[in-house]
Order: sequence, then C-alpha cells, then structure tokens
Amino acid sequence: MIWAKEETLPRAEIEDIQLDKLKETVRYIYGKSAPYRKKMDEAGVKPDDINSLTDLQKLPFTYKADFRDNYPMGLFAVDKKELVRFHASSGTTGKPTVVGYTKKDLDVWLNNVARIACMGGATPDDVAQIAFGYGTFTGALGLHGGLEMLGASVIPMSSGNTKKQIMFMQDMGTTLLVATPSYALHLGEEIRARGIDPSRDLKVHIGLFGGEGMTEPMRDEMHKVWGEQFLCTQNYGMSELCGPGVAGECESLCGMHVNEDWFIPEVIDPETGEVLPPGEHGELVVTCLGKEALPLVRYRTGDLTRLMYEPCACGRTTVRMENLSGRSDDMLVIRGVNVFPTQIEEVLLQVPEIGPHYEIVVERKNRLDVMTITVELIDDRLLDSYSKLSELEQRIKKGLKAQLGLATQIKLVAPYSLQRFEGKAKRVTDLRKDGL
Ligand SMILES: [Zn+2]
Repeated sequence: MIWAKEETLPRAEIEDIQLDKLKETVRYIYGKSAPYRKKMDEAGVKPDDINSLTDLQKLPFTYKADFRDNYPMGLFAVDKKELVRFHASSGTTGKPTVVGYTKKDLDVWLNNVARIACMGGATPDDVAQIAFGYGTFTGALGLHGGLEMLGASVIPMSSGNTKKQIMFMQDMGTTLLVATPSYALHLGEEIRARGIDPSRDLKVHIGLFGGEGMTEPMRDEMHKVWGEQFLCTQNYGMSELCGPGVAGECESLCGMHVNEDWFIPEVIDPETGEVLPPGEHGELVVTCLGKEALPLVRYRTGDLTRLMYEPCACGRTTVRMENLSGRSDDMLVIRGVNVFPTQIEEVLLQVPEIGPHYEIVVERKNRLDVMTITVELIDDRLLDSYSKLSELEQRIKKGLKAQLGLATQIKLVAPYSLQRFEGKAKRVTDLRKDGL
C-alpha cells in the first residue's frame, strides 16, 4: 500500500514541488529567523538567489551546534503561542536539543510517518505495539501518531517490562512491533527463553525499527528470533528534522525512500563540504521543506550514506538512501585507521558460534591504541574447551583483521553476560585520553 500520490511522481514533478517549496522556505527563514538571516547575510546569499535546486548549494549549512548556541528556542520561527508540541532529544553532553511543532507541522509529520509505516507493510488492520520509550523522544509519539493516522490500533506500551510486553502480544494479538533493533532482538530472545516461539505462538509479523541503524547481518539475526516470515524494515529520522518519517525502507528492502516532497537530501564530503555526485558515499545533509516552527536548511546529520535514484520494484519513484554505514562522529580512529562499529558488527554476525550482542572498548596502553571486543558465546559449553575457544578467538581476529586492517583483542564470554539496552544500544567505550 502506498500512502500518498507524491511518492510515485515522475522525477521532474517531484523536483518542481521541491523547488517551489524551497524558494518559499528560504524566503520564510530569511524573514522569520534572525540566526538564519545572519548566516545567509554572512554567506552573501539572498532569497532571490534561489532559482534552481542546485542553488541550494549557495546556502550555508546548519549544525547541531546551532541548536546549542540558540538553546532552547532561538531557531524557532514562530511565536510560542502557535506551538502545539515540544520534543527534545537527549544531548550526549549538557542541554538537550529542543524542537517544536505547529498544528500544521504535526499534521505533516504524522502523515510522513504514516507513509513510512505503509512502506514497511503496515495496514489499517494492524495492532501496533510501541516498545520505544515514551517521553520527549520523538520516536514513540511519532510512530504512535503516524500509525493511528494510518488507521492501525496502537498499544502505547513503552520500552521495558518484558513480561507485560509478551502478555499484550498474546492477549491483544499484536501484529506489528515498533522498537530499536537492539531491543527487538533482546525481546525476541526473552520470548524464546520463555519457551514461546514467536513465529508459531504470536501474531507479530511486522517490525518497524528506528532509533539506531540495522545492518543486514542484524536483520538475519532478527529472523532467527522472530521467524523467517517476519518483515522487518528500518526507518530514518532525527528530532531536529521532525523525528521519524524522513525516510523508510519499503518491502523490497533496498534502501530507505526519502519523503522528497518534504525533505531535500544531499550527500557531501564531510571534510570539504562539497556536494558529491549521485551514488557516492558521504555525509547526509537534509533541508526540510515547509516547516513552520523550526525550519531547517542544509542540516548536517552526521550520518553516512549514499543516494540511489534507480527505480524501485515497489512503484515508488522517490530517491532511496542506503542503510547507514555509520555516523561521522561514531568513527573511531585506531592507530590511524578509521573504524566504524558497523564494520565490526558485520564481521561478528557472520560467526555462527557467537551472538549479536557485543561491546567495544578502546584504550591506550604503552602509547598504543588497543581495541578489545567482548562477544557472547551462544553455547557456554565452549568455555570448557580451551582449544575450541582459542580457535574461535583466532578466527574472529582474522576476520576483523581482513575487514579493518587492524589487530584486535577478543574476549569471549558466557551467553547473556553483556548488558541489554531498552533504547539505543551503547556499544562503544573510548577510554583514551588526549595527549597520552
Ligand atoms: Zn521501494
């Protein structure tokens, strides 16, 4: 099911819509937002200079730091009384990023979420259990509102409380689960540990995942716990842009369709800021179109991906962004080598004897970076065999060396000994201090 006709327009028509809305958006921010006007004046660009989509490149970037510098509402373009909702994302340090919505913004947002829910196979018949943590986080209320708009029935469960999650799944006949991929995997394991086979005993057959990326091997793990028929897709968004609803995977599972009549994606070289040709890998930059409360132009997301314009089997014509290969700020530099946690995950998930949960610790010993990866064994009987354990350890090290070009330390631990996360998994700890 395709939610909106805008998802299937010929390229030229999508671009016409984008250009009209872009001109309007730039006039709007120049008139209504002092920080933007200042930035545009400094860059020597006026609203009238925007006459084509490539003119977008004349506009300055917006950064996460702009939110910090204008905390809490300095980037807002409307009066407080026009707002109907606030959300905030937890900052890693200090103050959160506060975002706001007018009535129209909320309507556009939830319609966009309805679109991505449809992309992932949701229908009005679904019973959707939201296992994202509620609160100021945009994920829970975003999917909640979007699924209601679609006509599904929503169970606002929030994260945690596995026993209650399972009870509702059984008693209410939940068909669709909304969660972070790591929590969905954890929940699936817990369900199996209670002797329940999700594919046989439950009706859950759709997973709409977000909040963190899902690699292909992770999707395979998901099928192992939730069953082969489980259709799990991921979707993309961030609170600064609106929340979820920016892009989502369709049932063809070949990247995430961007809701292009509301968002213009660009991919840039994160070092030079230059826009890269279609298909090249780089940092995703997003311009929001038609947003009233918190317009956002050329926002540096920090997420690494590429854009694919080839037609998709699902019938949508919107550009697809490849599943994220990491965040530019997740990148670890280890002995001069760039390492993304997703690269490590891909190697680990191909080793049958170990589970999908892992932890990476980077420290500096004798002036050298040392990366230790702790992984769980699936069968703890392996711990009794030194030779098998040692063979496994060597095999993982070899795989990582081939992928990363780096030597790593591997620690194999008993099943279920690593921490599980109800929200975004924290897998990396960097203990290096500058200057040592
Ligand atoms: Zn598609």
